[in-house]
Amino acid sequence: MTILVTGGAGYIGSHTVQALRDAGERVVVIDNLSTGFSHFVPEGVALFIGDAGDENLVEGVIAAHGVRAIIHFAGSVVVPDSMRDPLGYYRNNTMTTRNLLNAAVRCNVGRFIFSSTAAVYGNPDTMPVAEEAPTRPLSPYGMSKLMTEIMLHDVATAHGMNYVVLRYFNVAGADPLGRLGLATVGATHLLKIAVEAATGQRAKIDVFGTDYPTADGSCVRDFIHVSDLAEAHCAALAYLDQGGPSATLNCGYGRGYTVLETIEAVRRASGRNFAVQYAERRPGDIMTMIADTTRIRATLDWTPRYDSLDIIARHALAWEEKLLIERQDQVPQAVPA
Ligand code: UDP
Repeated sequence: MTILVTGGAGYIGSHTVQALRDAGERVVVIDNLSTGFSHFVPEGVALFIGDAGDENLVEGVIAAHGVRAIIHFAGSVVVPDSMRDPLGYYRNNTMTTRNLLNAAVRCNVGRFIFSSTAAVYGNPDTMPVAEEAPTRPLSPYGMSKLMTEIMLHDVATAHGMNYVVLRYFNVAGADPLGRLGLATVGATHLLKIAVEAATGQRAKIDVFGTDYPTADGSCVRDFIHVSDLAEAHCAALAYLDQGGPSATLNCGYGRGYTVLETIEAVRRASGRNFAVQYAERRPGDIMTMIADTTRIRATLDWTPRYDSLDIIARHALAWEEKLLIERQDQVPQAVPA
């Protein structure tokens, strides 16, 4: 039987599709290509271009492919955008999932894995943050994901579905074999900005806030390599296939690096000393965000392979260099007069 992956042409979705394929699973993807790329979907995987909230499309795909589980990535992910356009986020994230769940229930798909986020915690009282911590999202993005978690819980109770909610911390890096990576134009994530600076695409990187009460004054984040996160989805699927009960799990490594340490890792990886500028705090930033990983390690058969900031930086940099070469190849050559 087949796994339906929504958003399978996007950054984390495509790494997961690849990991599922490498594990011998049959996979089918629904993606509207708003931020994803059709060439990220490997050969042998059917791609349906459309909306994960289009119930007719989803039910057709489930019936045609014998889908046993859904892994749901599709959605909008930019926190500041969600502040400007909350209803867009509630549509793309909450309403889309409502329709997808309706299709799943109608077609008796009893296993569901959902991409959630550490943003559901807001500003936690204790660090590292565990799954039982209060959920107080500070943005419509975080709220739209939390609403989906609640919906999923209610649907599971009413209809006997089993689910795994994965709350991602800071996802970074790229496929170690160079097949996939973060290609979204205008990405704002720290590692992406840093490798763009290291490859000369930016004159400098700003550090937002250097007066926090942390080791060096900058914010602290728990970075998880995208390939380890992809493997966590495979492990969650195996867990549900073995009859595991519904679970909500933090996805991180359980240790934090400051923004300055992260930039230093990219400098080391690249051997280039790009400019760093100290800037004002970014509104809405949480000072420190580190996952308590006790539960995921106890629940899933999952051992991270790339728990190293240096490896994450190296893979992100290698991918950025590849993108750059591809883009240069696409620039039209001047025709001699
Ligand atoms: N950050 C920074 N400069 C940048 C981008 C990000 O100093 O150009 C900081 C940001 O203020 C935060 C951390 O890096 O403290 C992680 O930000 P990111 O946007 O990557 O992820 P978030 O934790 O906000 O989801």
